[in-house]
Amino acid sequence: MKADGGDIFSARWIIEDAFHSHKDFGLYVLDGKIVGLAPLVELQSRFPDARVHSDTNTAILPGFVNAHHHCYGLNLINQGIRDDLLEPWIFASAGAADIASRLTTEYAAIRLLKNGVTGVVDACTAGQTAALAEAKIRDKIDAYSRLGLSCAIAPGERWQNQLVHPNGQSQSFLKTLPEGLRCKLQRQHVARSRIDPTNFVQLLSRMHDAYRTFDCADVWFGPTAPHWTGQEILRDIAKAARESGQRIHTHAEESRLQHLSATAGRSKGAIAQLCEAGLMTDGLSLAHMVWASEKDLARVAKARGHIVCNPSSNLRLRSGIAPAPLMKRMGISLALGMDGTSLAGDDDMFAEMRLAQSLYWSRDPATPSLTAKDVFDMATMGGARLMGMDHSIGSLAIGKRANFVILCLERLEGPWLDPSTDPVELLVSSAKSTDIQSVYTDGQLAVSHGEIKNCDEKKILQNITDAMQQAADQRLNASEYHAVKSALQRWYDDWLTNNTPQL
Ligand SMILES: [Zn+2]
Repeated sequence: MKADGGDIFSARWIIEDAFHSHKDFGLYVLDGKIVGLAPLVELQSRFPDARVHSDTNTAILPGFVNAHHHCYGLNLINQGIRDDLLEPWIFASAGAADIASRLTTEYAAIRLLKNGVTGVVDACTAGQTAALAEAKIRDKIDAYSRLGLSCAIAPGERWQNQLVHPNGQSQSFLKTLPEGLRCKLQRQHVARSRIDPTNFVQLLSRMHDAYRTFDCADVWFGPTAPHWTGQEILRDIAKAARESGQRIHTHAEESRLQHLSATAGRSKGAIAQLCEAGLMTDGLSLAHMVWASEKDLARVAKARGHIVCNPSSNLRLRSGIAPAPLMKRMGISLALGMDGTSLAGDDDMFAEMRLAQSLYWSRDPATPSLTAKDVFDMATMGGARLMGMDHSIGSLAIGKRANFVILCLERLEGPWLDPSTDPVELLVSSAKSTDIQSVYTDGQLAVSHGEIKNCDEKKILQNITDAMQQAADQRLNASEYHAVKSALQRWYDDWLTNNTPQL
């Protein structure tokens, strides 16, 4: 067959997926889809009318999937919010400037795309009412889709235990604070109006249905975490999800204190809670799982659930290191997320993969360390599987969307490169986002040499500046934050002394 038009992209290496790289191949793209993947000479003879873009100083790889993300707007440090243990940090980050979600999503989408990310799971707060939540979801999908990113929006809320993890203890913690601070936290965290849980379940079911025909956008249930959601709502979500096949995304077993609180006394832990609610299915994805036990992981593996590891975030919020080698040995499908808190705040997926590989090692020969190919798979196909979009994104297979990154090899090659070097190992060990030459979504040029196409970046940046200048400052001041932090420490110490968590 003689095709007319289309484009052939050729490079020294085409990385089809983590486990298959091809030298001197080409990628034939027509109407936004990958139609051919074969040696360049073969593609040229099969498609003589195609435009050929060839550069032997580059590698072509699939667009990344960031499988757990929050749109914080600016980097947190730019908002005066420092890294800390998760528990006090929540009180600092809750004061992050409240600017329009459309704006923070547009900004996040630009940053992700420049970093070669073409698929994202956006875990967000639902908001005060069903109408506001619906507007937020539509705005987010619109912002991501306009730039060609595949997205899943997973809204949730903290309906209970807003101040401390153990169930029903928030008021007891509040009593330990001086009056001014007590009123502030009560107002900002406990009494803040939130969408009614029944409306939440109905809205998300309806929104999922509304986007059912969309190939690259989905709406999920995003219960923030089991202890913040409550068992009754989790059961309602499970019932709705069973009927519709809607996916569920939640934080679980993130910090040590969450784990100890959830397993104290007769409590069996967050994963048991999810199982009991009927949520442990192959449509469930769990972010973090740093403190998950082997028993918890066995339950996830049996249900064919997904886990997304967030190594940068777990370091920055002092949560620890997830047992990813054990997760892999148990056959759990793993993905990679940057959680809005990549180590340098730059959303560089190469750095995140590198960190994952360095941290997720094992001294136990029965539980092998994660390899460069494993973490590359997490950042691509693992995320695509988690999103239920592995038929259209995550690799450069024929029939998929032509979402790919062209990476310049010049810096990586240096004065000499061993010809036997595996390209995936080279990229994971040495590449940086700044090596990205261009990013394509649906076969169209989306980023070229750091410049984003199809949107007015300058205008978005100016809008962010304007919004930040006008945003009300809701942050705790330094002495308030110090007081909350000390009070939390004392309260958890006392609570742990008087309770019997499973260590
Ligand atoms: Zn998160």
